[in-house]
Amino acid sequence: MTDAPPAPSSTTSAPPQLSLAELEAGVPFADRHVGPRPAELERMLAAIGVGSLEELADRALPPSIRDTGEVPTSIPAPASETEMLAELRGLADRNTVTVPMIGLGYAGTVTPPVIRRHVLENPAWYTAYTPYQPEISQGRLEALLAFQTMVADLTGLPVAGASLLDEATAAAEAMTLLRRAGKAKSPRFVVDADTLPQTVDVLRTRAEPLGIELVVADLADGLPEGDLFGLLLSYPGASGRVADPRRLIEEAHARGGLVAVAADLLGLTLLTPPGELGADAAVGTTQRFGVPLGFGGPHAGYLSVRQQFARQLPGRLVGVSRDADGNPALRLALQTREQHIRREKATSNICTAQVLLAVVAACYAIYHGPEGLTRIARRTHRMAAVLAAGLRAGGLEVAHENFFDTVVARVPGRADAIADALHTAGISVRRISADELGLACSELTTVAHLRALWGAFGVEADVADLDAATPDALPADLRRESEFLTHPTFHEHRSETALMRWLRRLADADLALDRTMIPLGSCTMKLNATAEMEPITWPEFAELHPFAPAADTEGTREMITQLERWLAELTGYAAVSVQPNAGSQGELAGLLAIAAYHRSRGEAERNVCLIPSSAHGTNAASAVMAGMRVVVVATDSAGNVDLADLRAKIGEHGSALAALMITYPSTHGVYEAEVREVCAAVHEAGGQVYVDGANLNALLGLARPGAFGGDVSHLNLHKTFCIPHGGGGPGVGPVAVAEHLAPFLPGRGSGDHAVGAVSAAPYGSPGVLPISWAYIRMMGVEGLRRATLTAVAAANYVAARLDEHYPVLYAGRDGAVAHECILDLRGITKESGVTVDDVAKRLADYGLHAPTMSFPVAGTLMVEPTESEDLAEIDRFVAAMIGIRDEIRRVQAGEWPVDDNPLRGAPHTAACLVDKWDHPYPRDLAAYPTGAVPGVHDRKVWPPVRRIDQAHGDRNLVCSCPPIEAYSS
Ligand SMILES: *Cc1c(COP(=O)(O)O)cnc(C)c1O
Repeated sequence: MTDAPPAPSSTTSAPPQLSLAELEAGVPFADRHVGPRPAELERMLAAIGVGSLEELADRALPPSIRDTGEVPTSIPAPASETEMLAELRGLADRNTVTVPMIGLGYAGTVTPPVIRRHVLENPAWYTAYTPYQPEISQGRLEALLAFQTMVADLTGLPVAGASLLDEATAAAEAMTLLRRAGKAKSPRFVVDADTLPQTVDVLRTRAEPLGIELVVADLADGLPEGDLFGLLLSYPGASGRVADPRRLIEEAHARGGLVAVAADLLGLTLLTPPGELGADAAVGTTQRFGVPLGFGGPHAGYLSVRQQFARQLPGRLVGVSRDADGNPALRLALQTREQHIRREKATSNICTAQVLLAVVAACYAIYHGPEGLTRIARRTHRMAAVLAAGLRAGGLEVAHENFFDTVVARVPGRADAIADALHTAGISVRRISADELGLACSELTTVAHLRALWGAFGVEADVADLDAATPDALPADLRRESEFLTHPTFHEHRSETALMRWLRRLADADLALDRTMIPLGSCTMKLNATAEMEPITWPEFAELHPFAPAADTEGTREMITQLERWLAELTGYAAVSVQPNAGSQGELAGLLAIAAYHRSRGEAERNVCLIPSSAHGTNAASAVMAGMRVVVVATDSAGNVDLADLRAKIGEHGSALAALMITYPSTHGVYEAEVREVCAAVHEAGGQVYVDGANLNALLGLARPGAFGGDVSHLNLHKTFCIPHGGGGPGVGPVAVAEHLAPFLPGRGSGDHAVGAVSAAPYGSPGVLPISWAYIRMMGVEGLRRATLTAVAAANYVAARLDEHYPVLYAGRDGAVAHECILDLRGITKESGVTVDDVAKRLADYGLHAPTMSFPVAGTLMVEPTESEDLAEIDRFVAAMIGIRDEIRRVQAGEWPVDDNPLRGAPHTAACLVDKWDHPYPRDLAAYPTGAVPGVHDRKVWPPVRRIDQAHGDRNLVCSCPPIEAYSS
């Protein structure tokens, strides 16, 4: 860039004398979060043709939705990083961390420091996007393939997905999978009464709208009478008991049902895996593989199935394929099953999953290897066995003969007193009843803990004697015989040096936000500031059990209360629940609230959900899961909801209208001027308005969906509120509702119409909520408003710079876009044969991440620069896009054939350049593309693989680590 920025006026005079108070305040955090410097912003505004951000807001936003005057809020004035951290420290100090022996699906674990620092706290891993561009995502794809292999091996079922949101939602996904995979016509799903209570809660929520009849039954004497399509067993049960599931599995199969087993992965190193016992699917959590408790999440759930059900798996599945040079390469398999393509035919709404936590769990298995995991399992089991033996020796009754890690002690009338004494000693146990306590061992359990436990029970015992005398408490005929984790990946990274370098090698294969902007429309890949991230690994937040006594979790709960209030104020709603652990789950919760509201008013027949054709795929999928009928509303040529069609559809469905789901600003990146009319039309017909809040980054501080017509919204904290994308999760999708829907928030209400839980833990994924709390606390309302305006300016700048090269498809008032813009390549593709895919892959040769491809319009790219990118980086992207346009022209001019040019050949690996070169374009152009792009030469990133063949991998489905020989051929 040669033209010098206009000199800011203040540099011409002497620096102003700052007061001591101003000096003490330091640089506002907003100045760090927002990328463009003032002089850069001036240039951006000049390119757009406005004089100020305020003028841009006046131009872009319809006056009818703008906030007028001061909006009352409890959000304090912005804190500095230091002040925010001190305040959060104060909240953290109000939590009490104890030894977690409560169990119930959440176990104590040690995150190996090498994994904590090099994965969990490493922006190369946590700022990555979902690997939809596989050529620049081979690192996280390799880690996820290891995750899938780990789950498949341990459960004895060959195909596992790349994570689900938690154990309870995984069980719900298994329930619907068994229903569509099986042949049974029955609506009944039988659930073992010894299942985790939170899993049963979520199953209830998810079963009801789908017409599934949930039968929770004690299975001691076999299955209940009658037909069934599926069965869920727990192995071990919630009580810790390990029972042989074989007879029940056979019985269910004999009646035409399929069987899922909820299993503890650590236990499966010692116990015969579900696949070998005849199960069709296995579900559970990978939390105890090194993932901090975090007061309930985020943790990666898992689901594995028999080979014949592979194509039924919900969520993402990593598979092996090959690249253009025939080398093995990874990518997401079977993407045609995804909800964004299936829409109203979707069978699951999962989008964001738990990739970062899945990577942590996979690394834990890789670092420990099969012997290490077995040793941890044996330690856990022996602690439990010796604990039980001590209690028995002391004359106490222990409930079960066979268990893995959890002992239930019978202490008639004394349970509370003993639990209180243990809590004072720093150990939390499960209070089952006045007569029973649950004691769950883990890799954190020590001999000292056993002594403390015995002491509280009034028992004296000698550990060494008991250890020598006590046999294992695992059923003899359920001992695991089969090998697992035999792949070299689980054997080659046992030293810290080896693991560190493997992680670095994988991270270097990927483009995350630490190397380049990720201009993905709708995904809002903005800064995840270090000060926001640091607190999540503080033990006071990270090591809380979700069912810890309330007195131990005061600080976190206060933080959540504040965050929920702030989010409600910022969106104009009355109440917020942070329980949904992804946007998709917020959608489901919101729609269930709407359905419950209609039911409470005696209007249960309202079940039609209107959804514009441009909506995100999760919208329709969530509506289906909420038991609604999806009716598509057309969009007009300007990309707006077609009001005439909307009115026609409202008229057609009348008293059956339940809701309209719209995204605002629209998925076309436009502030629709008539949104108030749209909302009013739905309300007049007795419907509710769901505003998908994924695009809130274009609204915060300027307009509130709850004030311009929305009854309910979900927010994506992993978009607008700075929780990192983690390569495809974690996410948090709070649901925000107007006053009349507040009684129907998930898990909060009571009475006939209450909506049940939508995630396993009461607050979903509270472990990452400090990030969003910190962001709001440091930005304040003014800072958030500035971020919004800057994001809108950045998008309009890109649109202004690129429109002459790639027409901007939709614009709103005065030609302005919102916080993202769609570049239309369809005409270019028609004229040149160069596709959006070619452009996306060519960007990788520039070391840039592609924008969102073909959503919401096929054949287009949707660019969202966000407020955190400075002008130099935005200009690097713009220059690359212009350089690519020049290359397209050369293809168009016939200089290069359509099937052999730098675009179709992209991305180019270093290896492909040193091989024999027989292309009509030069090697140096392949590596260092057209255009004076600053940074291309000194910042060259070499993609590790060439263009990946999607179809080959789908025809030859391989979803676990292939044998090493596969790489040598
Ligand atoms: C991201 C997104 C969603 C889904 O959110 P997840 O957290 O991925 O489940 C829904 N709608 C829109 C418009 C989105 O951009």
